[in-house]
Amino acid sequence: MIYLDNAATTRLHPEVLAEMMPFLQQDFGNPSSVHQLGKRAKQAIENARRTFATWLHCLPNELVFTSGGTEAIHAALLGAILASRRRHIVASAVEHHAVLHTLELLQRLGATITLVAPDETGRIQVDDVLAAMQPDTCCVSMMAVNNELGTIMSVAQLAKAVKKQDSRVLFHSDMVQALGTMPHHLAESAIDFASFSAHKIHGPKAVGGLFIRSGVPWLPVMRGGAQEHKRRAGTENVAGIVGFGAAIARIQDHFSDRMAHLSAVKQQFQAGLASIPGLVWNSPADGVPTIANVAINGIRNDTLLMRLDLAGIAASAGSACTAGSLEPSHVLRACGFSEERIGQSLRFSFSEDTTLEDVIEAAHSVRQIVSSLMIL
Ligand code: PLP
Repeated sequence: MIYLDNAATTRLHPEVLAEMMPFLQQDFGNPSSVHQLGKRAKQAIENARRTFATWLHCLPNELVFTSGGTEAIHAALLGAILASRRRHIVASAVEHHAVLHTLELLQRLGATITLVAPDETGRIQVDDVLAAMQPDTCCVSMMAVNNELGTIMSVAQLAKAVKKQDSRVLFHSDMVQALGTMPHHLAESAIDFASFSAHKIHGPKAVGGLFIRSGVPWLPVMRGGAQEHKRRAGTENVAGIVGFGAAIARIQDHFSDRMAHLSAVKQQFQAGLASIPGLVWNSPADGVPTIANVAINGIRNDTLLMRLDLAGIAASAGSACTAGSLEPSHVLRACGFSEERIGQSLRFSFSEDTTLEDVIEAAHSVRQIVSSLMIL
């Protein structure tokens, strides 16, 4: 199987699994327990937190571990509204459903939402965000990298402009697809909240993290025990958190090699697809090297995906959460694409596991399948 669906999830790296194993077996203690086993578990969590903070350039106590990106996003947005009298939120129309559906929940609880439309590459203009802000705006939420197109948004610049217009507005960024594809400097930015997930960087599923800038008004959503300094109740997923730390440490150790490899893989894939008639790139040329979204005129994405699957190649259309039903992508729609082009769009996504041979073979299969479908 050639796996080109790494934006949906990545393989758990064997080194990450090896670091997790003791905490699933002999070191099974509850980090809140005062005995040796408990202390070992607590120590392991704090080590992972320090590694994460070093990579993000923030303080360890500004990071809260969660059950994934989705929970981190819920905690940021609900927690910001809970701590504020303001009731308006601005977000981009190309956010992941984890953000959009959380906003729908907040709307049911009385919030009002303004979604800012992107340009045709999925990018949001600073002026459009500023124009969408109101005196009642509590929070602006803008993703750092779009999961369908790979478009990079300059969230640091956006956050700065938002604060300049109204210093009381909080800024959240969904950085789930950004982790591992760019360096982060959270301390020196104007970003207040940032959400992360482990399984997109060869860590375990159902582990994530939320950056909460020290001192920002925010209230915890998950209530109960005093874990995570009372910011996220519930016994910690110790092995998962250790795995997240190990996955981040690997990124940190191999960042430039990883980026060079990913860029070479994407370029090779692009070259392999170049001769396909009617192929257009939906992804912008300056997007992250992990994501390639293309449309092939005259070929339906569900047919192509099925044929690729039969040929042993895993790709996707839209985000993983909607792939089961192949719903038309809300991201491509927001970018102004025709329904026809949306129905012809496919996402191929790469990781450090993807080899040049993989993408040469995958591009060859796409070419063959497309020409056979053209003849039919
Ligand atoms: N945000 C983005 C941009 C994503 O790509 C994803 C995962 O697909 C999420 C949020 C949700 O993260 P998780 O699967 O860890 O809940």
